[in-house]
Amino acid sequence: MNLKKKYNILAVDDAKDTLMLLEFDLAEVGYQVFTAESGELALAVLEEQAIDLILLDMYMPGISGLAVLKKVKTHPLFMKTPVIMLSASDDEDKIVDALESGADDYVTKPYIPKVLLARIRTSIRLLEKTLELESLAKTDFLTGINNRGAFEDLASKAISQAKRTNLPLVMVMLDIDFFKAVNDNYGHDAGDKVLIQFASTLCECFRDYDIIGRVGGEEFAICMPNTTIENAIAACERFRLSIQNTQISIDDTNDEKISVTVSIGLSLGQDAEMSLEELLKQSDLSLYQAKKNGRNQTQIHEEINTVMPDDYSEDLQNTTEDKYPGIDFQVGVGNVLGDEDLFAEILVMFYEDHSNDSEKIQQAISNEDQSACKHLVHTLKGVSCSVGAMRLFELTKALDGAITVEDKASYQQLYQPVALELVKIVAGIEAKLADKL
Ligand code: GH3
Ligand code: MG
Ligand code: MG
Repeated sequence: MNLKKKYNILAVDDAKDTLMLLEFDLAEVGYQVFTAESGELALAVLEEQAIDLILLDMYMPGISGLAVLKKVKTHPLFMKTPVIMLSASDDEDKIVDALESGADDYVTKPYIPKVLLARIRTSIRLLEKTLELESLAKTDFLTGINNRGAFEDLASKAISQAKRTNLPLVMVMLDIDFFKAVNDNYGHDAGDKVLIQFASTLCECFRDYDIIGRVGGEEFAICMPNTTIENAIAACERFRLSIQNTQISIDDTNDEKISVTVSIGLSLGQDAEMSLEELLKQSDLSLYQAKKNGRNQTQIHEEINTVMPDDYSEDLQNTTEDKYPGIDFQVGVGNVLGDEDLFAEILVMFYEDHSNDSEKIQQAISNEDQSACKHLVHTLKGVSCSVGAMRLFELTKALDGAITVEDKASYQQLYQPVALELVKIVAGIEAKLADKL
């Protein structure tokens, strides 16, 4: 029992004098007391107020104590709240009924304050121990994030929700590259420190409502509800660059620091058929592809790749060597006569003016606003050439061509790779020029 916490107790009794006595005895030892003179009022208080324990009179006019008890113990939000029944001493059969319906304890009236208070303490202690055990059973002992079981439970719920609401959901699998070498070179404890830091960076980089879990030794998974594939890639790329740049301290006695890289595989769930197993399998295949292509990269499941140019994966891979992902540094700097500082400033301007272009283009396509579409794509094509984003230049050129001849059927297909390429470039500028943005 947490001595500093002020527990909220709801006392329910139709006899006003009993309520007053309870309020006095409980408040005196530091409980916050809420009172209700009927079952109806008790249920209303529960809806309004977080309650830690209920003292419930067995006999009341209107909804009886036993009926309130059954409602509480079958309600998903309140079922764990301990309920102590208050009953007259000759109610043995009723007491048995109440215990069988989920009551945690009972106290006969007139009650002895010392005994009642002891039983309240025991019930609260028991609840807290149960919650603690439940939470331990869901938590990965090393990193403190969801373990595999908890991840799968939460992700399954998110998938059902995505099906109901028809919103896209992205499943991500991550595996640290050459992690065995970290253990071999620096020891198992250093490996553990890397895992802890890795999990903590994951929690920083992803949104609060993304579900993050450790699903194997050095394998993690993220379920991203209500997320487009473009946004998921952007988040994964931000994380990938962030972990690559994180210096992890592995020994308290010296300054030795190491960093690791990660391979990431994604799959998109957007049809009624998607299942947790299938999505994890698809993400795992993408992850395998990322490992095979040289590690330290993000890969998308091939079915999503069909709308992308064939060499997209290769291009993502090459970005690891680039100074700025998606940008041919030599071309970009060459365009400003080799002035690297000026080039960085130009990239900042590109970031400010164009990082939301994919949303704008998508909007123009949806609105069938031909001239806005043409203007946006044409401008993006021009600037991508100036900053050395040659792949983006080629992709926008293809889309621009389709817009010029009003080949509307292929807009969406040609738009997709433009959006993905832009995501990569924007994430790269964000990571490399964070101090200037
Ligand atoms: P790859 O890039 O192909 O993923 O190579 P890898 O070395 O990361 O993969 P491999 O599966 O060969 O090795 C994973 C290693 O992770 C082996 C195992 O000892 C280590 N490992 C698993 N769980 C833990 C842990 O809790 N702590 C530490 N320190 N190491 C762990
Ligand atoms: Mg592994
Ligand atoms: Mg690994």
